[in-house]
Amino acid sequence: MVTALKTSPALTVRQLMSSSVVSRAFRFFETNAEAITDEHIRICSIPASPFGEQERAIYLSEKFSSLGLTEVEVDEEGNCLGLIKGTSRTPLLVVSAHLDTVFAKGTSFQVTRNESRLLAPGIADDGCGLAALIALAQAIQTEGIRTEGSILFVGTVGEEGEGNLRGVRHLLTRGRWASKVDAFLSFDGPGVDRITNQALGSRRYRVEFVGPGGHSWGDFGVPNPVHAIGCAISRFASYPAPKDPRTTFNVGRIEGGTSINAIPGKAAMEVDLRSAAEAELRRLDAFFRRAVREALDDENAKRRAGDPELKLKLDLIGERPTGETPRDSSLVELAIETTKVLGFEPRLDQSSTDSNLPISLGIPAITLGAGGSSGSSHTLDEWYDPRDRDKGLKRGLLVVLGIVGLV
Ligand SMILES: [Zn+2]
Repeated sequence: MVTALKTSPALTVRQLMSSSVVSRAFRFFETNAEAITDEHIRICSIPASPFGEQERAIYLSEKFSSLGLTEVEVDEEGNCLGLIKGTSRTPLLVVSAHLDTVFAKGTSFQVTRNESRLLAPGIADDGCGLAALIALAQAIQTEGIRTEGSILFVGTVGEEGEGNLRGVRHLLTRGRWASKVDAFLSFDGPGVDRITNQALGSRRYRVEFVGPGGHSWGDFGVPNPVHAIGCAISRFASYPAPKDPRTTFNVGRIEGGTSINAIPGKAAMEVDLRSAAEAELRRLDAFFRRAVREALDDENAKRRAGDPELKLKLDLIGERPTGETPRDSSLVELAIETTKVLGFEPRLDQSSTDSNLPISLGIPAITLGAGGSSGSSHTLDEWYDPRDRDKGLKRGLLVVLGIVGLV
């Protein structure tokens, strides 16, 4: 058996590279490049807004069944699962990509082509991960690759935004595979050099200011929730975020008001706070809360005598744990070796992905690029270029086989 869990990752990769089934699978990725892209287009054309991933999950489950995966299901949370059983149940490796996108219901998910580029919301994040999932399962099945451990392929729900990792959280803490998973690999976005082994922590808030509302002329002086939101943003946006450890913040959505000449009864915003270091995240979080409270107090202090106060509702709607899979763990070393053997310079990276959750549970986890290149992620102009996608798939396959072992 060839597995990085029992021998050195470097040796494992050398042995895998000299295996004939691995060469056949590599050729599969090269000769089927067009078909893999066609499949990529098909799955990305199915809308998958936050909390609206069901149609895509069902499509993926049908795909898994047609490829001969077993124990195929869409679980209670909406994740799509399918197993390639090895000669043993362990080690059990989860290979995942996320089904959801950041785009709201009603967005057109139609894929168009511009020369070598594919264009559609979510085409790279995480369309190329889903395409990699299908291509890997297909290569393993078509080339008759037999493994010692088992591979659980999972299309997860709720990776983006308010999903708050609900899919992977269910999978690893409540689902029927919980506590059976030995290692976790996620494909998210393009590229062949990135190895995300550090989980970037984040906190997300929804802020709501609620007041009595009124007529813009007749009731002037009633506390105005939109003014308060504006003031809160202005205070908050002055935060001197350090470059190192990298710390970022974003007011991603604001809403409120009904008419130009009505004092709004309500205004809200959604805010994302991130930092590479837990202490910095706490500092940013405290500054943000203070900015919101001060904006509230300011607006209330200005109000007409006798008018009711503006009320604040502050909800923590997302919290992602920080942590890392150590540089010297078998999984990270294996990913480094496979990247090098394919001629690329490995780049360890920190990001917020599905791997945050297993990392917080002590399960070795990394997120890899799925090959190709992309741009304008999380915008309606998102694009993906599948050239050299095969290199990402080859790397993915080597990491998978390095963990579960070839028979
Ligand atoms: Zn993603």
